[in-house]
Amino acid sequence: MTTISGKTNLVGLIGWPVSHSVSPPMHNAAFAALGLDWCYVPLPVPIEPADRIGEAVRGLRALGLRGANVTVPHKQAVMPHLDWLTPAAQAIGAVNTIRVEPDGALSGDNTDAPGFVADLREHGVDSSGKNVIVLGAGGSARAIVYGLAASGARKILIVNRTVDKAASLANQMQALFPNCAIAAQPLAQPLADVAEQTDLIINTTSLGMTPDVAGLPWEPDVKFSAHQAVYDLVYNPPQTRLLQKARVDGAQAIGGLGMLIWQGAIAFERWTGVAAPVDLMRRTVTEIFAKR
Ligand code: NAP
Repeated sequence: MTTISGKTNLVGLIGWPVSHSVSPPMHNAAFAALGLDWCYVPLPVPIEPADRIGEAVRGLRALGLRGANVTVPHKQAVMPHLDWLTPAAQAIGAVNTIRVEPDGALSGDNTDAPGFVADLREHGVDSSGKNVIVLGAGGSARAIVYGLAASGARKILIVNRTVDKAASLANQMQALFPNCAIAAQPLAQPLADVAEQTDLIINTTSLGMTPDVAGLPWEPDVKFSAHQAVYDLVYNPPQTRLLQKARVDGAQAIGGLGMLIWQGAIAFERWTGVAAPVDLMRRTVTEIFAKR
């Protein structure tokens, strides 16, 4: 347990709810291991009244915090209350990391995209030059498509139940990344033909997440193959139905826990300027999930 003193640097997690989050123990374990006088606290901010989120963001500076992570449902709502955004946060349209800069400005960044790419690399998957299917077009899909296109993917097909959302995301990212061919398709359309030429399949939908563990964002009869990697952003449960199918079919199966750890590790580095102890953060999170 961190000993809080008058000099302790505070960061936290803005979201609603936040009581289930593994971020406080993950970051506090990292601060303690490196002997940093920092502490990470939950900062629950309700959705109503609507001006509460603005008060919370401005309150970070007023109360002398060094920054915060932002989670569901506030990743977009915090944006108008910040002084400036990184190009990634601007393009993705969501902020998950706020920093109170030395001059007092509030900056907004998005570490989901580099966190995802870092986890892919850790699993030996380089998305550069690859053909990718992204399932889903919600908040997390925006970060994933940005991360993939920025790291040199050749082709990205966004497949979503609501095809208009996929098309709008594809158009927006295509304008930013002309060297990557980005297209959209409805989830109801058969995937067998395009699946064959795909190297990497990423689920960003909530299908398969507890309590809907039977959910599968993929046609059961369309097989994955050994040259493919299947990444599921869902990390609860760690073994989703999609990942089980990928393993049975002989593909590489990667769960979303690593992205959760890496987005936190990158935020840690942005706040402290110190390299994050990623292995320790992973051990901490894995132990918590093993007990749940
Ligand atoms: P979101 O913005 O609400 O988007 C949900 C997506 O799932 C949309 O594309 C939605 O399609 C689709 N969907 C939901 N129910 C569906 C159904 N019954 N059939 C077909 N499609 C369905 O959520 P999000 O923030 O992107 O999060 C999505 C998942 O990613 C969650 O499980 C979350 O825990 C996980 N996640 C993990 C990490 C990590 O670090 N590993 C980070 C962020 C998110 P429509 O557009 O048609 O509604």
